[in-house]
Amino acid sequence: MAGETMWALTYDKKDDWSTTRGMKKIRVPVPVLDEKTNTDDLDQVLVKIKYAGFCGSDRGIWFRNAFGPAIISSLQKEEKDIRIIGHELLGEVVQSGSRAAKQYGYKPGMIVSTESHIICNRCFQCHHGQTNVCADDIIIGISRDGCFAEYIKLPAQVLWPTDISRIHPWVGAIQEPFGNAVHCCTKVDLKGKTVAVFGCGTIGLFVILIAKALGASRIIGVEPLELHARLARELGADEVIEFTPAKTEGASTWSSNSAIVETIKTLTRGIGADVSMEMSGYNSSLNNAIHSTRRGGDVVLFGLKSGEAVIENFDRLIVNGISMHSVIGRLLMNTWYITRNLLEDKANGIQEKILKIILDEGRHTITPMKDFQHDHFETLIKTHPKVIIDFTQ
Ligand SMILES: [Zn+2]
Ligand SMILES: [Zn+2]
Repeated sequence: MAGETMWALTYDKKDDWSTTRGMKKIRVPVPVLDEKTNTDDLDQVLVKIKYAGFCGSDRGIWFRNAFGPAIISSLQKEEKDIRIIGHELLGEVVQSGSRAAKQYGYKPGMIVSTESHIICNRCFQCHHGQTNVCADDIIIGISRDGCFAEYIKLPAQVLWPTDISRIHPWVGAIQEPFGNAVHCCTKVDLKGKTVAVFGCGTIGLFVILIAKALGASRIIGVEPLELHARLARELGADEVIEFTPAKTEGASTWSSNSAIVETIKTLTRGIGADVSMEMSGYNSSLNNAIHSTRRGGDVVLFGLKSGEAVIENFDRLIVNGISMHSVIGRLLMNTWYITRNLLEDKANGIQEKILKIILDEGRHTITPMKDFQHDHFETLIKTHPKVIIDFTQ
């Protein structure tokens, strides 16, 4: 396929990061797998994309509030201008390097998804099995070309075979973000516990489904957006606390919302939540999570914002013996196996709810690449918890 081109959604380094937005749909060269000229290709696989999920990180790139330095510095290293974005995919193997075929059994026609962090296998963390915090990882669609394109070349090591007779192709394409939620829900034992989810965005919504399937006895959502609060209820949250984010006048932006904390205390007989999941990244939400957690309970941190954060009444965190856990990425490949088991087990209703409720049966959430139009696409990613780009039509 040398010399052929394909459609891709890209960022061009020549466009000033701070004054532009969106992604450019342009034609770029199809990646070539040729192990005679490039020995790296022995371990690589060429995948034809079927569906690609658009996530919060991609939204950060679209609106230029995240990943700029990582994209630009990696482009400088590669001495090129164009970065193909995207890291959540389902695709079909079209060509496999000989070692990828021998060691992993990849053959044309196989259906795969991918872990988005390409690990180095050599650093201290990798040697200790902590590959999700590899010191030298490369992120697909940020520090290496991504999957908002007709083809992608990836190392066999990170691919994840997916059985689309058991997992719907749309759901297969979003196993990576679902895996973030699985990682959150497996950080501490949720069996029989009361779990409070602060921020019911896409990953927070997945957390509600997974926590229930893993045996949480009660789930309390906390969410300011009406649509997301409704989705949280439909997905099985027992209670959802809606609130209006505090205006900044006078009061700090970081202080907890006493109404939320009190409501959670009341709902838990004055004890507090066993486990709080902070999914939003807002400082006020972090304080809500800490102060809604019972003595001896756990706070799982997933929401992300750069810069400083204030912990309100810091002494209470220690005196109440609350444990904080940071979650990044997925454990390789532990989290992927649990993801597969949860999705393939039809009895828990997770797939059905993702398809019906989060993806709204594909209404405005599955959008063909061939019809990509900048402003329309921007409206889609602003209005829906999950948008999937369809390369099959
Ligand atoms: Zn993502
Ligand atoms: Zn490493």
